[in-house]
Amino acid sequence: MSASRQVTVHTSDCGPVTISCPAWCAGRHQTGEQLVDLGHASNDIELLVETERGRVELLHLLFGSYPFSTRPADRGLVVAVHLGGDYFDFHDDAALYRLADEVAAHAIRIRAVARQLAELQRAEGGR
Ligand SMILES: [Zn+2]
Repeated sequence: MSASRQVTVHTSDCGPVTISCPAWCAGRHQTGEQLVDLGHASNDIELLVETERGRVELLHLLFGSYPFSTRPADRGLVVAVHLGGDYFDFHDDAALYRLADEVAAHAIRIRAVARQLAELQRAEGGR
């Protein structure tokens, strides 16, 4: 992440708008959108898993904000998490900790399925 800096973004309704980017912003801004859709986004934090066909994204997260949004909740810093083909905003650390707890619970379930697979394969004489 770099220091705060100014960028000029061309919007469809307000023309060029100069804004200060927070230090976490990766500096990629869409031009031609309405001012309310002008946002900051960090680089993706990718969580990958190893599969038989290589590494695949399980989910990714990024910091973001929409300082001109008509929805006050979207103006502040959030973490957007890409889950199931869409982004979901997590507005505070408690929400992210709940997500982490749910992912950890799924890991326990995956381990149980792994044990079940081994038992079934042994029963079938495969291993
Ligand atoms: Zn920015």
